[in-house]
Amino acid sequence: MKLSSYTSFTILWLLLITTSSFSQIYTTAKVDEQVKELLSKMTLEEKVGQMTQVTIQAVSKVQGTKDQKHQLDKTKLEDAIKKYHVGSILNVYDMMNSVEYWHEIINKIENIATKETRLGIPVLYGIDAIHGATYTKGSTLFPQAISLAATWNTELAKRSGEITAFETRASGIPWNFYPVMDIGRQPLWSRLWETYGEDVYLASQIGSSYINGAQGDDISAKDKVATCLKHYVGYSFPINGLDRTPAWISERMMREYFLPTFEAGINAGAPTIMVNSAEVNGIPGHANYHLLTEVLRNEMNFKGFVVSDWEDIIRLYTRDRVASSPKEAVKLAVMAGVDMSMVPYDFSFYNYLLELAKTNEVPMWRIDEAVSRILAVKMQLGLFENPYPENELQKDFANKTFTDDNLKTAQEAVILAKNNNVLPLSKTAKVLVTGPTANLLSVMNGGWTITWQGNEETLYPQEKNTLLEAIQNKLGKKNVNYVEGCSFDKDINTSKAVFEAMNSDVVVLCLGEAPYCETPGNIFDLTLNDAQLNLAAELAETGKPVVLVMLEGRPRVINKIEPQMNAVVLGFLPGMEGGNAIADILFGDINPSGKLPVTYPRSPNGITLYDYKPLEAFDSNKYDPQWSFGYGLSYTTFEYSNLVLSSNKIDLSGTIEVSAVVKNTGAFEGKEVVQLYVSDLYGSISRPNKQLKGFEKINLKPGEGKTVTFKLTPADLSFIGLEKKRITEPGDFDVMIGNLKGTFTLTK
Ligand code: BGC
Repeated sequence: MKLSSYTSFTILWLLLITTSSFSQIYTTAKVDEQVKELLSKMTLEEKVGQMTQVTIQAVSKVQGTKDQKHQLDKTKLEDAIKKYHVGSILNVYDMMNSVEYWHEIINKIENIATKETRLGIPVLYGIDAIHGATYTKGSTLFPQAISLAATWNTELAKRSGEITAFETRASGIPWNFYPVMDIGRQPLWSRLWETYGEDVYLASQIGSSYINGAQGDDISAKDKVATCLKHYVGYSFPINGLDRTPAWISERMMREYFLPTFEAGINAGAPTIMVNSAEVNGIPGHANYHLLTEVLRNEMNFKGFVVSDWEDIIRLYTRDRVASSPKEAVKLAVMAGVDMSMVPYDFSFYNYLLELAKTNEVPMWRIDEAVSRILAVKMQLGLFENPYPENELQKDFANKTFTDDNLKTAQEAVILAKNNNVLPLSKTAKVLVTGPTANLLSVMNGGWTITWQGNEETLYPQEKNTLLEAIQNKLGKKNVNYVEGCSFDKDINTSKAVFEAMNSDVVVLCLGEAPYCETPGNIFDLTLNDAQLNLAAELAETGKPVVLVMLEGRPRVINKIEPQMNAVVLGFLPGMEGGNAIADILFGDINPSGKLPVTYPRSPNGITLYDYKPLEAFDSNKYDPQWSFGYGLSYTTFEYSNLVLSSNKIDLSGTIEVSAVVKNTGAFEGKEVVQLYVSDLYGSISRPNKQLKGFEKINLKPGEGKTVTFKLTPADLSFIGLEKKRITEPGDFDVMIGNLKGTFTLTK
């Protein structure tokens, strides 16, 4: 029970934070010294150049397409590096390149930077290697973030970080604009799938594990990269659900839900951060001194550098109108705390900043500060010793082990949401496969795959299996009938699909979304398109069992058809091995173990999340999703028993252990995600229904049982209090594992 007057334990909380396992890559004394020395030799022009980042389009003469080879423009490239001293180049123009071609590009850039400039400062090349080395041909493309989070497996998250780093660095690129640490609490948002879901704890765990894998202990290792947390902060919560539109986030909410994942990423050692492209509370991300400096630097102690998002500094003038000229936009952003500008097409930022520095409108200390941070990351990456691609890594690029690990990840990412005794399917069944996501690779990979939008199906590796092909491989082609049924939004031959269903034992109906990314993915209604709902309804009418497979970047509402479906498999975006993984699950070669990282809404406006407030379930209000966060079925059954708390009291310096026995009581071997939730019964701020505070994925053979133990500390019981500071309030708490519940008291 909450005590009458709450006690603030901010100091203790700070102490807890500072003694926790920080592994942030702090600049070492040696790097500091080297940076200082180099900085002392630099001209103002060279410094301002370091803060400038341009896209490869700005230094190319031929765009790379299916039919023409990309070409760098030597003169433009030399200008960028020698005349404008650019510190960084990014991106791809306009689709993936081979490893060899990336080497050629990076070698050309670094040759000019290190051999033809006065100080030989290497260029930092950055890219969006979102779910693998997105823009390198043949790379290992993992489940997208939402699906990675659905594995609830930190080892797999770490492994995907390792392999992505390996293949990105093997391409000669040392900086990855990833992971997205935005919290996914707005399901309409077209970038939901780039997040690790709606929960702070789950996203922090998966994101930190990814960073640990990508960076190891030393980002100068030849197979590691520098990660970039994005998009700091509040970008993911647009009030109308559209990409790059305003969020209104109170300070309490910001500190409770949006900042902690970034803090986790900083503590995991990410040395760079990218800024929110939109605005929060009327202040564009790139002009927000409070968030970029007071909070990020002074409170969260971030030591790395901050890069703008695409063209977003100039947009403070052209779009947001918080600056009345492009020059003022540059001043606002730099003084707010942006260290590097992703300009990206021209050198306007360089020219304006130079002028601003000369008139002291941007003071020299600020420029030195930004440049020092950028140089430090280049040094930590070892670029001053060797900025060139390592040929040696090439031979292991996309090797068999990487593909196997990708498959394992996809298998654990797939969620079985409903099963009325139809799954697993028999391998002797006659199957009709139908629907718009049945025979495409792009629908399993989503945006940031080969191209920005990920929708160039003809560029996908033809040797990989779509879901249809993977099912054909299991059953033999003659037992699998395929009819398109409909496209994403139009009927093609629904009546033929219905006819063929009558001649089949079972229908595998594959629905969902076409690939998209950022603003082109905006929608105004979460409901799945009519053409697809109609196909489902007509197939259900046949009376044949229908297994619905959803491939989608966000949870499209399917409540109208769900009751008629005999089974539902939620694939989200399972990556390049997704077809094989889903087929393995459909036919029982793999027992599903994915759990929802987001709440799956039952209706377009039913976006109450699992950690809802009391009011959201009061009176006629109710939490009534299609499926809740953390949910997912298995082909076996698990029984929870014996909840034991090491004590029924915990004080402010104490810990409490909570354990339970989990037993596999079914006939299949299976993996279970044991989830620990805490519920604060009374508080000075209305307390969430429950909050995830621990999870562990375990494997159990039939009949096998295991004891799983979690540790809770007062930090796990803390929240943002009335004074908008993190506090811990004495009182009673429920703790839940599976269907078991215990209670303990936090004392002073
Ligand atoms: C996106 C970022 C991305 C950047 C560079 C922007 O449009 O918002 O997530 O890293 O482009 O490609």
